[in-house]
Amino acid sequence: MVSDCVFCRIVRREIPAQILLETEEVLAFKDINPVAPIHIVLIPKKHIGSVMDPQLPALPPLTAELFAAIQQLMGEEKDGFRVVINRGPNAGESVPHLHLHLLGGRELAWPPG
Ligand code: AMP
Ligand code: ZN
Repeated sequence: MVSDCVFCRIVRREIPAQILLETEEVLAFKDINPVAPIHIVLIPKKHIGSVMDPQLPALPPLTAELFAAIQQLMGEEKDGFRVVINRGPNAGESVPHLHLHLLGGRELAWPPG
């Protein structure tokens, strides 16, 4: 846990969020600034700085739970959805705690902006 990390603070319930799913390893909540009708933020509860964290490939319970959560949260989205991880300034990453965006509920342009 990192004391001033906004997502760690959501995990600790120090900041309110509309939580949709919580397991041993992961937490999912509605994005505060949604860019699609469905915009969910899915995070590991443990503070992992980014998708490039070297310990990430060696955390199989976490990676399994992330994928299980995607299936659980987006299983009803029969028209499709998108999973996004932004990394670095070119991708617009703004919170340094690993997070997946789950986007759905409308047609999503490709390639992204
Ligand atoms: P990124 O730009 O990929 O780093 O994504 C960070 C996301 O976190 C953005 O879509 C923000 O709207 C979202 N976000 C930031 N703070 C909060 C919060 N307190 N509750 C919910 N979502 C948040
Ligand atoms: Zn954190």
